[in-house]
Amino acid sequence: MNKPRITQLRAVAKRYQVLLGLVDWQITVNWATKQDFADRDCYPDALGSCSWQVEYHTCRILLNRNLVDAETAESTVIHELIHLLAEQSDNPKGKYAPHYERALNTIADLLWQWDVTRTGGCGANA
Ligand SMILES: [Zn+2]
Repeated sequence: MNKPRITQLRAVAKRYQVLLGLVDWQITVNWATKQDFADRDCYPDALGSCSWQVEYHTCRILLNRNLVDAETAESTVIHELIHLLAEQSDNPKGKYAPHYERALNTIADLLWQWDVTRTGGCGANA
């Protein structure tokens, strides 16, 4: 199985930051610790988490190191960026809504497949 590297996932974030029109944001991508997810009220088996400060245009994406494969990890980065795109003026600690999360997964997966088909992508499959 193809394990993701953080440098590949940061490249994916940079690429999609441009594609999604978020170029004026400073976005960091790192592996999460168990404590990070606990501090953010995330499920321990969440694939990723995203928090942001609108006033500073900063966003911090944390990823679960135990992601199953690179493709899922790349799609998770895109998922988290879509959160930022869709909710940047809302409270990031909103209630978890499974239907909304599934919709973001669908959009992220389609974007990832479209990009890889069109250009070969930039992450693990480049
Ligand atoms: Zn989500």
